[in-house]
Amino acid sequence: MQRLFCALILPLLLGACMAVQPRAASLDAAARDYVRLQLAIGEKEEGYIDAYYGPEDLRAEGKAIAAAEGLPQLSARVDALSGRIAGLQAAEPRRARFLLAQLTAAKTRLRMLGGEKLPFEEEALGLFGVRPALKPLSGYDPVLAQVERLVPGAGPLWQRVDAFQDRFTIPRERLQPVFDAAIAECRARSARHVALPASERFAMSFVTDKSWSGYNYYQGDYASKIEINTDLPIRISRAVDLGCHEGYPGHHVLNVLLEQRLVRGRGWIEHSVQPLFSPQSIISEGSANYGIDLAFPGPEKLAYEVRAIYPLAGLPTADAARYDALLTALRDLQGARFTIAREFLEGRITEPQAVALTQQYQLVSEARAKQSIAFTKQYRSYVINYGLGRDMVAADVERAGPDQAARWRRMEQILSEPTLPSDLRTR
Ligand SMILES: [Zn+2]
Repeated sequence: MQRLFCALILPLLLGACMAVQPRAASLDAAARDYVRLQLAIGEKEEGYIDAYYGPEDLRAEGKAIAAAEGLPQLSARVDALSGRIAGLQAAEPRRARFLLAQLTAAKTRLRMLGGEKLPFEEEALGLFGVRPALKPLSGYDPVLAQVERLVPGAGPLWQRVDAFQDRFTIPRERLQPVFDAAIAECRARSARHVALPASERFAMSFVTDKSWSGYNYYQGDYASKIEINTDLPIRISRAVDLGCHEGYPGHHVLNVLLEQRLVRGRGWIEHSVQPLFSPQSIISEGSANYGIDLAFPGPEKLAYEVRAIYPLAGLPTADAARYDALLTALRDLQGARFTIAREFLEGRITEPQAVALTQQYQLVSEARAKQSIAFTKQYRSYVINYGLGRDMVAADVERAGPDQAARWRRMEQILSEPTLPSDLRTR
């Protein structure tokens, strides 16, 4: 109908119509090329594609491009596509801006795959669109002193913290019912504020031998596959944490909303592919972590856990409040992880030193410190996405004021729009 209208009216108006219609169509074509190109890069690095549920023919075409071309040719394709999209920005500026930011990350990742070593902050900026401000480790000493008061005694602080937390380990045979209950609660709390499609669903399984504690593999068609790593004992607070982070209102909800509103609703095919090393990830990890605070504001997490989760896990609740206070204090140490990652990745400290500093400044056992450093080796500056991403999403959402409904409305916008880190109002 709109095209016929364009063809019949005055040349002046015709010009105006032409300015919108074909450019939107060209952006659709550029978006298909973007998906194909991301899938081609994914052929060069295992794990680069976090999720893809778009057309199968694009996957095959991406494979064919990767088979015929090396990293420099793929990099040239990124440049050419970025140039094309930059010329199409007027039609749908926000859509184009998102694609350009994602392509900057792809270009950075290709440089890294080609062997280039970037300083930590530059790598983070190139991949995730944010330059983290890192503090020296000594800046975290006051937090250690505060934790010391919560867990007094002799011996290294990490040992006391670790031993205290071990008292809250969920017995292996109780994991399933505990997680089922926590996820159902996270879902119910999210569904009160965000309308989800009736067919949304996920499958959960327990796995071993991973460097992460949980992972959401989005399958498309509103379905997720959530894996929980049981290499190390799982403590009780992780049930609600992972239920919110991987599920509701975390990764699962983000993916469901992007599929429903952008991929299906607007035909923005670019959201059917999610490259792991891209600005999308800081939004995804940040919103997943802040989702815990949003779904369980203030004292609600502790109250819910004491009421429902502790009995299911068969654990006593006498020290539950102290455990909760400890976890709150430990959160202020999260930035130390980035500093340790930078020192390690830039070669100023060895792996055993990085493990020892992780024990000292994250207050964890050697086994947990080794898992943390294994993650840093595998994912590098991705580590900033959790703590920094959370703080950025929190700052933005909380600008909506103390009203919970208003905060959820802003969260829903962040989750369902092509949000970039630069869209977050952090000050
Ligand atoms: Zn995550």
